[in-house]
Amino acid sequence: TRIPHSPLRQRTLVSQPEAAVSHPPNVKLLINGEFRDSQTGDWIDVTNPATQEVVSRLPQTTPAEFNAAVQAAKDAFPAWRRTPVPHRLRVMFKLQQLIRENMDELAANVTLEQGKTLADARGDVFRGLEVVEYACGMGSQLMGEIVENVSSGMDTYSLRQPLGVCAGICPFNFPAMIPLWMFPVAVTAGNTFVLKPSEKDPGAAMMLAELAMEAGLPRGVLNVVHGTHNTVNNILEHPDIAAVSFVGSDQAGRYIYQRGCENGKRVQANMGAKNHAVVLPDANFEATTAALTGAAFGAAGQRCMAISAAVFVGGLDRWQAGLIERAKGLHVTAGHEAKADVGPLISKEAKSRVERLIASGIKEGADCPLDGRGIVVPGYERGNFVGPTLLTKVKPYMECYKEEIFGPVLVCLEAETMDEAINIVNANSHGNGVALFTRSGPAARKFQHDIDVGMVGINVPIPVPLPFFSFTGWRGSFHGDLHMYGKAGVQFYTQPKTVTTNWKDADDQVGKRAPGLDS
Ligand code: NAD
Repeated sequence: TRIPHSPLRQRTLVSQPEAAVSHPPNVKLLINGEFRDSQTGDWIDVTNPATQEVVSRLPQTTPAEFNAAVQAAKDAFPAWRRTPVPHRLRVMFKLQQLIRENMDELAANVTLEQGKTLADARGDVFRGLEVVEYACGMGSQLMGEIVENVSSGMDTYSLRQPLGVCAGICPFNFPAMIPLWMFPVAVTAGNTFVLKPSEKDPGAAMMLAELAMEAGLPRGVLNVVHGTHNTVNNILEHPDIAAVSFVGSDQAGRYIYQRGCENGKRVQANMGAKNHAVVLPDANFEATTAALTGAAFGAAGQRCMAISAAVFVGGLDRWQAGLIERAKGLHVTAGHEAKADVGPLISKEAKSRVERLIASGIKEGADCPLDGRGIVVPGYERGNFVGPTLLTKVKPYMECYKEEIFGPVLVCLEAETMDEAINIVNANSHGNGVALFTRSGPAARKFQHDIDVGMVGINVPIPVPLPFFSFTGWRGSFHGDLHMYGKAGVQFYTQPKTVTTNWKDADDQVGKRAPGLDS
């Protein structure tokens, strides 16, 4: 039996006629303020990863529908960019209120379609909500600069103006947070937007779009299209799209960055990761094993900031038993179950990929003292579950180290010194996040200076910056110049216009005779 959709979610779905009641509802498109059923003949099933139940069907947006969405965004732009900034901010104030009011429905949908636990799903919505809160105060970020008297009677000042139509391409793993990294900042800056949610879990993005309309976004300011490669290609090729924000895998990100740039678009691409923990011998045992367990296995390892590799300076011996004990205490089951700590992976393909990478590690010489393959979850036998897994004696040449596993697997390496550990991390192609566990201030200070990674936690396992900073992945984890949200996010969605004025004549006149006074 199908889990009924919530009232908010229903508004973004087309239910099938009663005769076809066994069919799941269709996900709508949002074009020019209207939620519409797609005319496509090509549909993708959106499934619950804990059960394989089909929860909805997602359309591969037709070219005509796609063009209509971009046209709506283009048509809405002139009026929206003229809309006073305080009005745009007030829409964000209203949106943050509506997200709070609908938090439970949003989180339930994230769990239904993505699989994570309800607590993680609330976190997913909440971290996105914080970007909306940031957008509520974005007026000061839109300020330009001025230098008076660049020449006699002349001033130069810069304005930050919106780009036009921007687009966002989202991954499956944070279905609420990532859309909220993008469109609130873009539209508050005066742009209009075309959003493409992940084809695997579009529900939260649709509910957020519905709330954004209710909050007062005018027609056409936010549009939602669906699909996979073809829709992405349409975004990259459309001459009226000025900028593209992408979050997802390396493979897609490199392609999107290159093709988008070739077509003259501004592109920011957040990509994959292999986030390391470096554990020094003096680190607190309980706090560190707890942090590693949560960061490696929480959300089934499907976080771009998950710790997926740990380098134990001085050896793993002190830590292994404690890690295994904690990992064994995690309850693997469907995300909506009260006891759930670790939910399913997003798809059967993801599950077999994770299992294959565990097997390849063992084949290449790693030990597997905790093996989560083959786990059977009572009541959810068809779910895509893999239990927490520890691979030890891992070396940097192994495939399980080089690849992003994106599952509940912690690969463990060992080093004799912190410098050796830093070299391992810096030689990895990704540079998203890293965490150091220690009680030593000098060691921490040296580490933060020498490490070639964009987000650093000192005794903080998942150092995702709050939205007044930006999400600053480096090297293979990011292509582009301006990161997402925070000041850099505002800069990405705006361009400076620099104005030089000459009021010399008028100035002279004012000196002689006040304007408006008859002599
Ligand atoms: P994905 O790359 O498979 O999909 C992301 C988006 O790109 C989707 O909308 C999809 O339709 C589209 N897409 C996929 N392949 C494409 C292709 N070949 N051509 C054009 N479009 C394509 O990523 P995913 O599996 O949904 O998400 C997981 C990945 O995202 C992981 O690698 C994770 O590390 C990464 N991620 C990174 C961050 C970050 O901020 N760095 C945040 C979250 C997730």
